[in-house]
Amino acid sequence: MFTTAKFTLALTALAVATPALSEEVNLYSYRQPELLKPLTDAFTAETGIAVNVAYLEKGMVERLQAEGARSPADLIFTVDISRLYAAVNAGLTQPVTSDTLKANVPDIYHDPEGHWWGLTTRARIVYASKDRVADGEVTTYEDLADPKWKDRICTRSGTNAYNVALTSAAIHHHGVEGATAWLEGMKANLARKPQGNDRAQVKAIWAGECDIAIGNTYYMGQMLADEEQKEWAESVNIVFPTFENGGTHVNISGVAMTKAAPNKDNALKMMEFLTSPEAQEIYANANFEYPIAPGTESAPLVQSWGSFEADTVNLMDLARLRDDALKLTEIVDFDG
Ligand code: FE
Repeated sequence: MFTTAKFTLALTALAVATPALSEEVNLYSYRQPELLKPLTDAFTAETGIAVNVAYLEKGMVERLQAEGARSPADLIFTVDISRLYAAVNAGLTQPVTSDTLKANVPDIYHDPEGHWWGLTTRARIVYASKDRVADGEVTTYEDLADPKWKDRICTRSGTNAYNVALTSAAIHHHGVEGATAWLEGMKANLARKPQGNDRAQVKAIWAGECDIAIGNTYYMGQMLADEEQKEWAESVNIVFPTFENGGTHVNISGVAMTKAAPNKDNALKMMEFLTSPEAQEIYANANFEYPIAPGTESAPLVQSWGSFEADTVNLMDLARLRDDALKLTEIVDFDG
């Protein structure tokens, strides 16, 4: 009894000294609640810091610009290096670093200056018809421009952020001229005009409209979890192509600290928490992505798709090529 009373007293004293949840951190997120919620809950449980999230569908950069120094946002969450880079480029972020972040995030997945940090990766791969594409028929991204695929490839718009990043990687590996020839070759092989999202391409393979498609890895997991789309998923194999002189193209989901962050210390704690191996696996598994901290593993389903060597280009280099890639896509009239 005495011990309990003493303990209660001590707790009361603590509560007075630090009012409950006066500590907070504010997030703007393009990532969905079901992905972030388990992590923000775990973070609050561990640290006592409350997490407020504004889930946005668009206009994050514009909102941060409009709010300026009065913005409540501490951290921004998004997918695709181009979106992180856009916030950095607009002067809306601040550089952050720490031993924990550096230990947990490989160099190629964070800004050398610390403005953005990757949290998970996804590979941009080939979905190949189980019936109409043999093992080993496609092994490189360059293969996609081979005339043997004439009228057999499906893809979403060339101006979509995922494809722009892939084209940026093609420029990185082959220069503008090489990437132009590659895009033209691929366009000549399209079974139909670019349209729809990544999953729509797999559906088209299932329906017999094309034999191979470009898409992100995690959509396989999403399709398998969907009653209607399961059949589409089961009609294809995943192939991890590489660049002839590189690896498999990957992109990231990531985080950046805003320039105006009012809760800087808490924001850094949250970033470090998210790069911890434990949080990494929760975050990655929630959307069939790959965790990036050393010693972490992807979900068994994701592992079943096979392993690959990721391209070693720093994503910042791809971000810088974004405008060139977009221009090139328009010049070859990829979607036309
Ligand atoms: Fe996506």
